Amino acid sequence: MLITALAGGVGGARFLRGLRDALDADPALAQSDLTIVANTGDDITLFGLRVSPDVDTLLYTLGGGIDEAQGWGRADDSRIVQGELAAYGVGPQWFGLGDRDFGTHIARSYWLGEGLQPTAITERLATRWGLPGQRITLLPMTDAPVETHVVVEREDGPQAIHFQQWWVEDRTRTPAQRFVVAGLDRAAAAPGVLDAIREADLVILPPSNPVVSIGIILGVPGVRDALRGTTAPVVGVSPLIGGRPVRGHADACLSAIGVESSAAGVASLYADFLDGWLIDPADAVPGPPGLRVETYDRELLMGERAGAARLARAALDLGLALRND
Ligand code: GDP
Ligand code: CA
Repeated sequence: MLITALAGGVGGARFLRGLRDALDADPALAQSDLTIVANTGDDITLFGLRVSPDVDTLLYTLGGGIDEAQGWGRADDSRIVQGELAAYGVGPQWFGLGDRDFGTHIARSYWLGEGLQPTAITERLATRWGLPGQRITLLPMTDAPVETHVVVEREDGPQAIHFQQWWVEDRTRTPAQRFVVAGLDRAAAAPGVLDAIREADLVILPPSNPVVSIGIILGVPGVRDALRGTTAPVVGVSPLIGGRPVRGHADACLSAIGVESSAAGVASLYADFLDGWLIDPADAVPGPPGLRVETYDRELLMGERAGAARLARAALDLGLALRND
């Protein structure tokens, strides 16, 4: 079986590690291949280095190098380099980069300078983290440089700031008016992305941010059409429980685009291609015709690694049931 997933960072990565665990625990599915299409709209250039936060979170989580408590960055990391940069007055300091983590950004930037595309670079990084051996292929959504910017109201009028600055430094305190994804209209899907959706046996949308993670991938030309056209069932897991995000600020993102902060509101963003939707008991309402809404048998939380595998198994079962319909 080929399973293709679209994913952002922390929520998506934890879910997909659980999905790999769930597949490996089932002799009938252990040989399945998992292709992950990662959001690169969060990418940012810092200190002259290209940082790709969602790709790196996926690499570290799936490869066993993640700082588990934080959800991003490397385990056992230190902040010596960033401290040295601060001593020179070189910023920003609001985006934390550990010393081990710097190695990834230097390697990526070095390879970009040599003319390699992000797809090839991600493949090299993934090899170091043992993803091929786990039957996981990690693809950036596009090789084009794309950046999500947020238009916020400032005293002297509207201003566009980088998504990371709004998310990390501002902590979404300033309401977003809209999101502008620089470069997206000219971006082509990275090699393999559209085929991975069209040729999949099952497509899964993990509980990633529906606007600034999944929503950005959906904006890559061709991705939405591939999802509408694929014969595979498309199954999603709600990132909201009782209308609230588990972590992050999905509600602030949804209100910026005028969508109700609810499991149904998120499903409406995927209405043209979604076949199955896994929700929390607190959100149980019948879905629109044509959408199979399934209520998880407990709180829709991943929790520890085993909890993510259990949740992923439920999404898998929903997808397999839809395939047999
Ligand atoms: P992203 O994957 O880059 O979008 O990273 P985030 O960690 O910011 O997570 C995005 C979404 O995942 C948020 O809207 C969270 O509410 C959701 N999320 C995180 N953990 C869980 C969980 O345990 N269960 C559910 N249902 N959603 C979760
Ligand atoms: Ca992200």
